[in-house]
Amino acid sequence: ELAAWQRPLRADFPIVAANPEQAYLDSAATSQKPRRVLDVVHTYLTTSNANAGRGSYPWANATTAMVTGAAERVREFLGDRSAKAEEGAGAGAGPSSVHFTSGTTEGLRTVARDWLPLLLRDGDEIVVPYGDHRANLDPWLEARDLLGAQGVRIAVRELPCQAGTGDYDARALAALVGPRTRFVAVTHVHHVYGADMNVHRIRDAVGPDVPICLDAAQSVGHQPVSVADLDVDFLVFSGHKALALPGTGAVWARGERGPAFRPGGWAGTPNTAGIASLAAALDWLEAAGVERIARWTAALASVLTDGLSRMPAYEVLGCRSSLAAGTEVQRRGSIVTFRHHGIGSQDLGFILFSHGFMVRSDDHCQAGRDPRDGSVRVSLHVHNTLEEMEKLLTALAKLQ
Ligand code: PMP
Repeated sequence: ELAAWQRPLRADFPIVAANPEQAYLDSAATSQKPRRVLDVVHTYLTTSNANAGRGSYPWANATTAMVTGAAERVREFLGDRSAKAEEGAGAGAGPSSVHFTSGTTEGLRTVARDWLPLLLRDGDEIVVPYGDHRANLDPWLEARDLLGAQGVRIAVRELPCQAGTGDYDARALAALVGPRTRFVAVTHVHHVYGADMNVHRIRDAVGPDVPICLDAAQSVGHQPVSVADLDVDFLVFSGHKALALPGTGAVWARGERGPAFRPGGWAGTPNTAGIASLAAALDWLEAAGVERIARWTAALASVLTDGLSRMPAYEVLGCRSSLAAGTEVQRRGSIVTFRHHGIGSQDLGFILFSHGFMVRSDDHCQAGRDPRDGSVRVSLHVHNTLEEMEKLLTALAKLQ
């Protein structure tokens, strides 16, 4: 039985409603879209579709205002206290800025290409994660190589995440940060282990002046995220993982500390329909209650991890419970990744699909992982139900 609050929210996902026999358990790869988000896109495209930042006719003006408003919406949703401070500012101006991208990969690449060279001098060091998503490693290595080709030598220090919990090793982090550290890139919630990386502790370790760039692909839309509370300088996320259309995402950048965002926001044609969907998705999430969604998915994830821990054929990767014993690592809940000791992850994925479960099964683009070393990832959102978890556990139990 669905809780009264959840029923209308689940019913608002047309693709979920149309496929009652199937369970979508891959929201960490990309989320499904609520009807309201699709309606906003349809309305935009059928009433005022035009290019942004140009033109002197109503559709163009409406599109420009929509994009500017969506940037403001992102700032508000991310708890940016400077939101609305700059009345009339464009998407690229003000004390903080929002730059729309196609997702987190492009967002991190944008930070690496447009900001990082402005922050670094010859001999500086940067700390980047190793063992997180490749999207949060490759751009920093590429930036190092490009700068190196121009005679600016940058040392990259790799911060490992720990296989047992998924969190960073605090001592390793402290040892990597030195007087020449000018930039730190980390991840908010690990996309395989589901661990919440305790950004406060990272800020404490690096000190107040070093810019921190947070890959928030697995937190925005899944749990409350506040740039003011996290005290980060760049926050990058994927709109398409937060109920907006494919090909959406954003970089939020704190203005006062780092360089102002490079102009050019209006120089190319933005993904206007996608941006409209992102603002609508954030409205939907706020109305649904992000904290409530986080609690719900955490409860479902606990059911799954508890059930799996009673089946010897399976190994759960990363921390197993909502508060892993003896560690500060928190599992906020929307991701559970596991392996079967006898069945390969691809085979397990196919078997699970034959039971109606859509899961991710491969190496999850994790840096440092052998692609053959796969696992099955279940990732949840507000439309997922206890019944789905129970049926999944029944199917998994039969495979022991
Ligand atoms: N970082 C993390 C932590 C992710 O989970 C993902 C998506 N799997 C990405 C980056 C890449 O996001 P996108 O596909 O939107 O570029």
